[in-house]
Amino acid sequence: MPAPQCASCHKARAALRRPRSGQALCTTCFCASFEAEVLHTVVAGRLLPPGAVVAVGASGGKDSTVLAHVLRELAPHLGISLHLVAVDEGIGGYRDAALAAVRRQAARWELPLTVVAYAELFGGWTMDAVARSTAGSGRSRSCCTFCGVLRRRALEEGARRVGATHVVTGHNADDMAETVLMNFLRGDAGRLARGGGLGSPGEGGALPRCRPLQLASQKEVVLYAHFRRLDYFSEECVYAPEAFRGHARDLLKLLEAARPSAVLDLVHSAERLALAPAARPPPPGACSRCGALASRALCQACALLDGLNRGRPRLAIGKGRRGLDEEGPPGRRGSHSRPDPPLRSPSPASRDSSSPLGSDDDVGVRGRL
Ligand SMILES: [Zn+2]
Ligand SMILES: [Zn+2]
Repeated sequence: MPAPQCASCHKARAALRRPRSGQALCTTCFCASFEAEVLHTVVAGRLLPPGAVVAVGASGGKDSTVLAHVLRELAPHLGISLHLVAVDEGIGGYRDAALAAVRRQAARWELPLTVVAYAELFGGWTMDAVARSTAGSGRSRSCCTFCGVLRRRALEEGARRVGATHVVTGHNADDMAETVLMNFLRGDAGRLARGGGLGSPGEGGALPRCRPLQLASQKEVVLYAHFRRLDYFSEECVYAPEAFRGHARDLLKLLEAARPSAVLDLVHSAERLALAPAARPPPPGACSRCGALASRALCQACALLDGLNRGRPRLAIGKGRRGLDEEGPPGRRGSHSRPDPPLRSPSPASRDSSSPLGSDDDVGVRGRL
């Protein structure tokens, strides 16, 4: 049976059916629709005003590759300029190949690229060193937890270095729905409240952040990358992803099979949530070390690094508050001390309310930006 005609141009043969709507489109009309929808997300949400200098978190993966490509197409309409910012977490063999993909993209698209490294920002700690240090802690998620918090901070720092006014990341609707589901299942009202909406306005001196692909489905992101022949790096991070996210993903797949709009419905439900006054997180103060927003003495990033420097990562990432409340004013103990990391740029990454686990942007845990 020949492919149906494109439902938009009525000329070309359809190349796909859109996963959500079932609409049959040709390659050209699909890519144009995808770009128009991202444009609508940005314009309707007033995410990137004309004149914005936008730092694109570039990981070399499919999401950030598609985001950078679409924004480059839209930049003349939006009146914005783009700067790719890549974070080198120091993951031997994995990140090197991913960074090579980012470099190829920057060269092909003639976009400026800046790479910031954990080792440089965080007092010598690479992700490989963190993994060695946390090995045997019995917490499979610890690597992703560290990495999510630190990557967010590193991206903020990189964005500041290039004079950016805004930060964008490549999270898609599936990532967001997984995070909403996880927050629901954990009963984490504070993070649910913060995770809604298309981004954060930039509290506490942090740069405004947004996710222009937040309403785009993962399947369509992959299709767009395929039809536009984008060159990206598709290997999984060498460190196992957080197990709970995997369960949320499986559950979401079941829900989506029964109800195709389930992913987007979950994303929207988080946007529309209103918290009862008693469930609202307390207004955050400032981290005593770096000045970022924090609900305790230290922000998440500083608390994690502090635990590493003391050789006690378990306390810094445990469910309880022991490791954080015990310590009093930051001081040097033990023989594992390293210089304080030069955390200079406050960001909402460090705004930890009810739990020190994960950033408020848990969706970063899969090694994407
Ligand atoms: Zn068409
Ligand atoms: Zn801090």
